[in-house]
Amino acid sequence: MSRKKLRIVLFGPQGSGKGTQGQMLAERFNIPLIGAGDLFRKEIVDGTRLGFMVKEYVDHGSLAPDELVNAVITNRLKKIDLSKGFILDGYPRNVEQAQHLERLLKINLALYLRMSDTEAMRRLLGRRQCGQCRANFHVTDIPSPKGDECSMCDAPLIRREDDEEETIVRRLATFHFITEPLVSFYRQKGTLLTIQAEQTASEVFHDIVKKMAKLGFS
Ligand SMILES: [Zn+2]
Repeated sequence: MSRKKLRIVLFGPQGSGKGTQGQMLAERFNIPLIGAGDLFRKEIVDGTRLGFMVKEYVDHGSLAPDELVNAVITNRLKKIDLSKGFILDGYPRNVEQAQHLERLLKINLALYLRMSDTEAMRRLLGRRQCGQCRANFHVTDIPSPKGDECSMCDAPLIRREDDEEETIVRRLATFHFITEPLVSFYRQKGTLLTIQAEQTASEVFHDIVKKMAKLGFS
C-alpha cells in the first residue's frame, strides 16, 4: 500500500496548540516531528561554525538573519531521515524562509492553525505552571483543584515569564506581520489547509485528520 508522502509545515500563533497537534499528527501518521528550535540547539551543541554564529544571536537575544537560519535548516535536514515524510514546526517563519524551503523540499501540506488574538490571549494569560514539578494548568480550562497550588505537590503555581501580557502582545503582532503572509504564499502553491483552532485539542485534531483524508492524505 502506498500513500502520499506527507511533507508538512505547521504554523499558527502562539497559543494555537501547535505543539500538541504536531505531536498527535506525528503519532497518527508515524512521521517525525521536527522542531526548528531543536535543530538550532543541536547545531550549537555540535560546535560547528554555523552553531557558533547562531549562538551569538541567541546570547544577545536577537533574531538570526534569514541566511543563517536557512543555512542551519539546510544543514540539519540533510542529517535526518525524511524518507517517511515529516512535520516541520517553527520553520519557516516568513515568506523568504518558505521560498528557501521550497527549493530544498516540496512541501505538500501547509497546516495553518487559525486563532483570534482574543482567544490566544485568553489561553496564554491563563496558563499556570507548578514551580516545582512543572505540571501545567490553566485558570479556567484546566484549574488545579487546590486553587493557586499544584494538585500533585502543593507547590505554588506561577505564570511563566513568556506568558506576561506585554510579551504575548508583541509575539502576536510579530506573527501577524512576519509569519501570517505564509497563508497567501501556501494558498498560491495550492497546499494551504486552514483549521479553526478555537476548539478543544481533540476537536482540532479530528478536524485536521478529516480534512487531510479529503485531500488524499490518510
Ligand atoms: Zn507540582
